[in-house]
Amino acid sequence: MTTDMLRKELDVVVIGGGAAGLSGALMLARSRRSVAVIDAGAPRNAPADGIHGLLGYDGMPPAEYLARGTENVRRYGGLVIDGEVSEISRDTTGFAVTLADGRNTHARRILLATGLVDEIPDIDGLAERWGRDLVHCPYCHGWEVRDRAIAVLATGPMTFHSTLLWRQLSDRVVLLRNGIDFTAEQLAQVTARGVRIAEGRVQSVVTTDDAITGVAMADGQVVPCEVITAGTRMVARAGVVATLGLEPVEHPSGMGMHVPTDAAGRTDVPGVWAAGNVTDLAAQVGAAAAAGSMAGAQINAELALEEAADAVDAQAQAG
Ligand SMILES: Cc1cc2nc3c(=O)[nH]c(=O)nc-3n(C[C@H](O)[C@H](O)[C@H](O)COP(=O)(O)OP(=O)(O)OC[C@H]3O[C@@H](n4cnc5c(N)ncnc54)[C@H](O)[C@@H]3O)c2cc1C
Repeated sequence: MTTDMLRKELDVVVIGGGAAGLSGALMLARSRRSVAVIDAGAPRNAPADGIHGLLGYDGMPPAEYLARGTENVRRYGGLVIDGEVSEISRDTTGFAVTLADGRNTHARRILLATGLVDEIPDIDGLAERWGRDLVHCPYCHGWEVRDRAIAVLATGPMTFHSTLLWRQLSDRVVLLRNGIDFTAEQLAQVTARGVRIAEGRVQSVVTTDDAITGVAMADGQVVPCEVITAGTRMVARAGVVATLGLEPVEHPSGMGMHVPTDAAGRTDVPGVWAAGNVTDLAAQVGAAAAAGSMAGAQINAELALEEAADAVDAQAQAG
C-alpha cells in the first residue's frame, strides 16, 4: 500500500506504474520535475513467478521488481500512488486528472503507461491456465518449459514462426491447426523439423490434478500435451484517454490494437506521451522500461524548452 499524498499541481502525471511508467517517472524525478505515478496495481505479468530474460534481474518476481522501481522513484521525490485514473480533460494549462475514488490533480503533461489486455482465445478451460501452463512467449517462458510436450495453438499466420521458436526449445511439439491456413511450404518446414500437426478444431483443455494433460478435439480425440502456447490478441488499455481524442488503432503486425507514437513516445495529441505495452505490443520488461525512460527524458526536454520560451516572453513584457 502506498502512502504518498497526491499534490494538486504537477509537471507530469504518469498513468500506470509498471516498468514503463516507473522508468519514465525516474527520469523525471531525477530532473527535479514534480511527478506522480498513479497505478491501479494490475501489471500484465502479475501471474508469472519471475521475470525472465531481463539482464541483471533474470527470474526476479514481478512484484519485487516493481517494488524496487517504486523505491527508486520515491528516492528522488517522485510520488507513487495506488489508484485508478478514471477521467482526464484538457484545460488551458494542461490536464485535469480525476481518480476513480474522487481524488484529483493537474499536470502539464501526461505519460500514458497503462499496458495492454491479453485476449485469450475462447476455448473452454484455456483462460484458467494463463501464466501457468498456458504461455504465450518463448522468451518469457520457453526455457522453463524446455523438453516438455508443447501444443502450439494456431491463432493466425504468425503461428508458423512461433512454432519454429517453440521447436527450438523442445522436440515434443504439436501444432494444433484449429482451422488456420498455412502454406504448403510452411507445413513442409514444420513437419521436416519434427513437429506433429493435429488437424481439426480444438474444443477444450484437459487437466489432471490442476495440470494440463491434453486438448480435446471436436472429433473426440485427445491430443496429449503438458503445455499449451497461444498468441493472444493484445489490446492497448487506453480507454482513459479517449476523451482527449486518443484512440488505439490496429497494429500493422495484426497482433492487436495500440496507441501509435513517434520514436520518443509522443502521441498525436499534444502533451500526451505513451510508453511500454500500450504502444509497443511486443515490448518485454526491458524494452518497456527503456521506452518509459526515453519518454520521461523527452518530456523533461519539452518542458525545458517551453519554460525557456516563456522566460523570454516574460522578459519582453517586463522590458
Ligand atoms: C504471463 C506473462 C508473463 C510475462 N513474462 C515476462 C518475462 O518473463 N520477461 C519479460 O521481459 N516480459 C514478460 N512479460 C511481458 C511484460 O508483462 C510486459 O513487458 C510489461 O508488463 C510491460 O510493462 P508496462 O509498464 O508497459 O505495462 P504493465 O506492466 O502492464 O503496467 C501497466 C500498469 O498500468 C496500470 N493501469 C492501467 N490502467 C490504469 C489507469 N486507468 N489508472 C491507473 N493505472 C492503470 C495497470 O494496473 C498496471 O499496473 C510477460 C507477460 C505476461 C502476460
